[in-house]
Amino acid sequence: MPNDPALPSLVERFLRYTRFDTQSSETSESFPSTEKQRALSAELARELRELGLPDAAVDAHGYVMATLPGNVSHRVPVIGLIAHVDTSPEVSGENVKAQVHRDYDGKPIRLAGDVVLDPAESPQLLDHIGHTVITSDGSTLLGADNKAGCAEIMTLCERLLRDPKLPHGTLRIAFTPDEEVGNGTKHFDVKAFGAEVAYTVDGESPGEVENETFCADAATVTFTGVNVHPGYAKDKLASAIKAAACFVELLPPTMAPETTEAKQGYLHPVSVKGGVEETVVKLILRDFEEEGLREQARMLESLAAAVRVKLPKVKVGVAIEQSYRNMRFVLEKHPTVVEHALEAVRRAGLEPKLHRIRGGTDGARLCYMGLPTPNIFTGGHLFHSRREWIAVEDMEKAVQTLIELCKVWVEKSR
Ligand SMILES: [Zn+2]
Repeated sequence: MPNDPALPSLVERFLRYTRFDTQSSETSESFPSTEKQRALSAELARELRELGLPDAAVDAHGYVMATLPGNVSHRVPVIGLIAHVDTSPEVSGENVKAQVHRDYDGKPIRLAGDVVLDPAESPQLLDHIGHTVITSDGSTLLGADNKAGCAEIMTLCERLLRDPKLPHGTLRIAFTPDEEVGNGTKHFDVKAFGAEVAYTVDGESPGEVENETFCADAATVTFTGVNVHPGYAKDKLASAIKAAACFVELLPPTMAPETTEAKQGYLHPVSVKGGVEETVVKLILRDFEEEGLREQARMLESLAAAVRVKLPKVKVGVAIEQSYRNMRFVLEKHPTVVEHALEAVRRAGLEPKLHRIRGGTDGARLCYMGLPTPNIFTGGHLFHSRREWIAVEDMEKAVQTLIELCKVWVEKSR
């Protein structure tokens, strides 16, 4: 381990946060979706106060907010830094036993229950030979998503407070619940937060800055058939089920999640419900451009028309609803927000990489709530899995990037 005296506190924090079970729930009606998230929120607020941010508090919805006042005389925009406390509902986050693999040898790491973390699958491990790699014991996820972000922001606050020579404007810190179930911004009070720009610290590989999310719509295709007693149905019955099956069969295989990557969009049926009388197919539409979504909508209409020709007695209706839009459209209006992040990455000694998220984020929603918010890496890998891992050296790089980010904003605001 590098002999930076501040390093152990970053790791100690991260390991301590992973011991809190903060799994969120898709099915819960309450907010936050699970009460147990509040325990980590309370701990983070306590720790912020202890560090010297006396206004740190948890609000009624479980959001932690705090202020770190600036230490320069000129005006610098108030910057928000955000991480989420919850972990994915996909894999258990109960009783996480983080394993610290010092002086990693580059070989596959065997965890409990035949779980193997293999550099063949996660080649970035090979950049960490001789480094310290942290995993779970294989029975749970690790929770680097996003407890690494929480620990990195906390450590940033600590270092800025301990070293007055590090220049920074006023920072606003937020730790949010329920990001993994798409509700992290549901009760986020942008006005009370009071930041002019913000960054979620929730990305993966070192050097990455994420400035794009999908544009997303949801389609509901309703098939209305004619139901008659099947014993006496000749030339009368028209099955909505068969029409729906025909429609799904017509979806182009080259536009599916399982056949697309990188910049490509997709059309994805997510549920089929119904009977002979009525069957409803729900789909999600995804593309980085709005024109791509319009094209997908036209395609659904043309498939519906083809089904009408094949089964003329079945009525087919297509309804499309907007879900969210690419955050790039907002960030393009505030180009310095992403530029400063890329510059900070460079100054931290990494190669900056712009990255697209094939999904949505809290940052994207915040962009459309008036707060431009790209995403910065944490150093974590294989999120939402039992093989999730992070290298201590990359967590340190994330902290360095945040320190540089504060400096860049100070310099560029003169
Ligand atoms: Zn996350």
